[in-house]
Amino acid sequence: MTEYKMYIGGEWVDSSSGATTSVINPSSEVVCAKVQSATVEDAKKALDAAQDSFDDWAKLAPIERARYVLKAADEMEKVSEDLARTLTMEQGKPLFESRSEIQGSIANLRYFAEFARRIQGDVLPSDYPYRTVMILRVPLGVVVALTPWNFPSAMVTRKVGPALISGDVVVVKPSSYTPLSAIRIVQCFERAGLPKGVLNLVTGSGSTVGRELVSNNNTQLVTMTGSTEVGKEIMRDSSNHVARLVLELGGKAPFIVWGDAELDWAVKNAIWARFWNAGQTCICAERIYVDERLASKFIPAFVKAAKALRLGDPTTQVDMGPQVSKSELEVREKFVQKSLEEGAKLLTGGARPPYLPKGYYYEPTVLENVAQDSTVVQEEVFGPVVPILKVSSFEEALEKANDSKYGLASYIFTKDLGLAMKAANELRFGETYINQVGPELLQGIHTGFKQSGVGGENSQYGFYNYTQLKTVYVDYSGKPDTTYLFPYTESSR
Ligand code: NAP
Repeated sequence: MTEYKMYIGGEWVDSSSGATTSVINPSSEVVCAKVQSATVEDAKKALDAAQDSFDDWAKLAPIERARYVLKAADEMEKVSEDLARTLTMEQGKPLFESRSEIQGSIANLRYFAEFARRIQGDVLPSDYPYRTVMILRVPLGVVVALTPWNFPSAMVTRKVGPALISGDVVVVKPSSYTPLSAIRIVQCFERAGLPKGVLNLVTGSGSTVGRELVSNNNTQLVTMTGSTEVGKEIMRDSSNHVARLVLELGGKAPFIVWGDAELDWAVKNAIWARFWNAGQTCICAERIYVDERLASKFIPAFVKAAKALRLGDPTTQVDMGPQVSKSELEVREKFVQKSLEEGAKLLTGGARPPYLPKGYYYEPTVLENVAQDSTVVQEEVFGPVVPILKVSSFEEALEKANDSKYGLASYIFTKDLGLAMKAANELRFGETYINQVGPELLQGIHTGFKQSGVGGENSQYGFYNYTQLKTVYVDYSGKPDTTYLFPYTESSR
């Protein structure tokens, strides 16, 4: 059994309490590793180590910083299969998806390294002769990166990449369910020779260690991907010292299938959009609105495809692995139970697969006869459960899609360009996919409307969230205009 340490100030260390926590493989329910249970003291040490390294790191030319980041990407590439297997072991996604996530994680680092020569400011004319106004982008300082369990690798590099290129220093705290991928990535940065203290990692509970990282005065930016509820706690805890925030929170993506959509394509995409990563993706289709004229064809085809999905050991050729944990599995069960009590009709699923007695598996589940205001349509399920609602007009589809406190991703399948563009304009979501489901690209900003978050990641817009704007006023006249200075005279302005 491997016991992993934490990385603080360039050293691999134990928790100051000596306590460790088990990491459980969700497909076998067996403990697969131990990690340190950090204390608040450890969190403070990590922040101090980051702060101490900040000046030197920020003074490096961005292109020098990029060399470390690119080297770390190369180190990840060398062990990519191992990283993918670690990811599947701790999180449960099929190996195929883990390999793809690792490649995406490496791509994050390479993409953000490209910004080293593009940290652009502005030069503007002054209102006075021989003066100028420069707007610069400078590093923020200590960045705290809190990552979720559903993409334990990609969420780390999506945050660490832009932070390091910007000249910031970082403390990462991964999800307690899936800390191993983050540890393995930090090992790659160590092998890349990253200066001590620039990147630190603590493993421990969000409610103690995470809270300390967020509320500590050293922290200049908190970048967190996770649930809306925790996002709200972070907003409260960071308000004392006014830390900047990038919050990527929950979603409840509507998937609209209009009557003229290509049926097979819409079904294939809807299936993947819901059941990819066993339904545990923030941009997963969480509710399907189908044109009533197509419903009699779409619904049976969708149910048939859901039934055909192969569940099982994610290191074998399957489509869906387990839910990440027992408690998450129980959340899915409660959603379905409540829906059935509220009058929903179960079209398939609704149970743990009897042929998989070990592991946190849940069958692909499709519900009908659900009301727009029901829990399963309004709250994020974050698992392989989807309600299908019929709509009789395009306006009704858009209205119901927008009737949500969330606003992350949305989907529209239609051959009518006019309707597609109407949806793109009127859907109150940070992403609208027309006739496609992903892949989300690095050059597109990933951002949420409403309670799906603040800020955003990827693209130049996301990158710049890791920098601080600053204005510099320069007088190069040699003969300053002194008319507004003391002492005031008749000719003062
Ligand atoms: P979570 O429970 O909100 O946790 C996210 C991270 O925050 C974890 O590292 C967690 O640590 C930490 N944390 C918890 N409480 C904290 C606190 N009070 N202060 C500071 N840190 C705290 O989210 P999750 O269950 O891991 O992930 C699933 C959620 O993430 C879903 O809602 C999903 O929609 C969302 N998500 C959003 C996006 C997006 O881009 N919008 C992407 C992926 C996932 P512990 O693990 O120790 O509690």
